[in-house]
Amino acid sequence: MADKFDVIVIGAGPGGYVAAIRAAQLGLKTACVEKWVNREGKTVHGGTCLNVGCIPSKSLLETSHKYVEARDEYGDLGISIGDVSMDIEKMMARKDKVVSQLTGGISGLFKANGVTSLEGAGKLLKDKQVEVTGQDGESQTYQADNIIIATGSVPVEIPPAPMTEDLIVDSAGALEFQEVPKRLGVIGAGVIGLELGSVWRRLGSEVTMLEALDTFLPVVDEQISKETYKQLTKQGLDIKLGARVTGSEVRDSEVVVKYTDSEGEQEQTFDKLIVCVGRRPYTDSLLGDDTGVELDERGFIQVDDTCQTGAPGVYAIGDVVRGPMLAHKGSEEGVMVADIIHGEKAEMNYEAIPSVIYTAPEVAWVGRSEQQAQEDGFEVKTGVFPFSASGRAMANNATEGMVKVVTDASTDRVIGVHIIGQHAGELIAEAVIAMEFGSSAEDLALTCFAHPTLSEAVHEAALAVDGHAIHMANRKKKS
Ligand SMILES: Cc1cc2nc3c(=O)[nH]c(=O)nc-3n(C[C@H](O)[C@H](O)[C@H](O)COP(=O)(O)OP(=O)(O)OC[C@H]3O[C@@H](n4cnc5c(N)ncnc54)[C@H](O)[C@@H]3O)c2cc1C
Repeated sequence: MADKFDVIVIGAGPGGYVAAIRAAQLGLKTACVEKWVNREGKTVHGGTCLNVGCIPSKSLLETSHKYVEARDEYGDLGISIGDVSMDIEKMMARKDKVVSQLTGGISGLFKANGVTSLEGAGKLLKDKQVEVTGQDGESQTYQADNIIIATGSVPVEIPPAPMTEDLIVDSAGALEFQEVPKRLGVIGAGVIGLELGSVWRRLGSEVTMLEALDTFLPVVDEQISKETYKQLTKQGLDIKLGARVTGSEVRDSEVVVKYTDSEGEQEQTFDKLIVCVGRRPYTDSLLGDDTGVELDERGFIQVDDTCQTGAPGVYAIGDVVRGPMLAHKGSEEGVMVADIIHGEKAEMNYEAIPSVIYTAPEVAWVGRSEQQAQEDGFEVKTGVFPFSASGRAMANNATEGMVKVVTDASTDRVIGVHIIGQHAGELIAEAVIAMEFGSSAEDLALTCFAHPTLSEAVHEAALAVDGHAIHMANRKKKS
């Protein structure tokens, strides 16, 4: 038996690495096991988020957005820059550099905080032991008083479109294209599909998105999802709803996809196909016998509100447990669990976890949509303010979209905020803070916001709940 630790974390994604750093900061002797290796065979920290998720996708979204602004929008501002061209190799090199800076940064933070890095695949054994098998096949077993499982998730594969080396790829593959595919198919018009489809559309691909559901972005407030659909289709994303993929065939260097829609059987040919139909919790080869850790029917590790599994002292956080598959949700669970292990009382507010779609315009929300609030039995009151009436949005040449505040009419409490517009992903933070502090719409309305800022639209939407928005003809007036 090798070293004994207070805490061993399995997985160094945003759930696991944050949990490990927090535990070490609290003085707990902590180790973190990670099996991800990069192209050079070196162990890298950061998980899906840093290596093939949040960070590389945002790097490509930012570059492609700047390209479109320079190509299509600078002229409106009086800036002439002649022909604009894209160097895909340089774009990818920058993305890779950002990724390696950040993954290297986590390794540095481990050292600085005294987290022991264990390289290899971790397997949970009974009695809180963890077996770590390195790339050379050698195993070592470690004992801990507490274990945090943070093994994340992997893309779901579907039988009608099995992955190939480079024609049918998952989200990670779509971050590695070396040239712009002329005809790009995307199966799944969810958050990841829309972001990746947007990147390649901006760079010139004809993008067709095949979405099995009849409803576009059902998790998003209806008014906002309608506006999102309008904006994204205007940019040239061909989003086909109710299109269920039934098969695919690779012919030479093309992919022929068969799908059914309301008009019957259809066929379309693409140069690349991205499969983005969701992610599944990853527990492959993770659990030994008699660990006491149970999976639910969908493969998630079963936990209670404090992320405790059925085995005392064994916790699970992040994508491998219930709740939204979001990096910040896993990180906050990591902090909560480390605090609990340290003996503190800690909890998560699952009602105030923001979500963002990093398209242009961005879409961001927290809490309940108007429809969910109604289904949950609330008497709902809403306030909406369009960016077309915002001075800053006009100055920014970004007047698309709106802010919508959803309240419980009986208490005026804010129970949801939904934004589509420039920097929505940043603006949503103030709504999260408002909800975290149990704010009413009136509290927000009585708060002073800097002028001219996009955040004034949040203020105005809160004022609009009672029909008092200043820069808009209100739907209703207070009696
Ligand atoms: C293209 C894309 C874009 C995304 N964009 C966003 C975004 O903008 N914002 C956002 O919040 N979320 C985004 N996500 C989701 C986000 O990446 C995940 O929610 C987040 O990474 C989950 O964190 P995690 O720590 O639970 O798991 P992961 O990040 O998946 O990390 C799990 C780690 O555990 C390791 N591991 C697994 N099993 C073992 C084992 N047995 N032994 C040792 N190590 C193991 C894995 O190698 C991995 O490093 C995106 C995802 C994708 C694919």
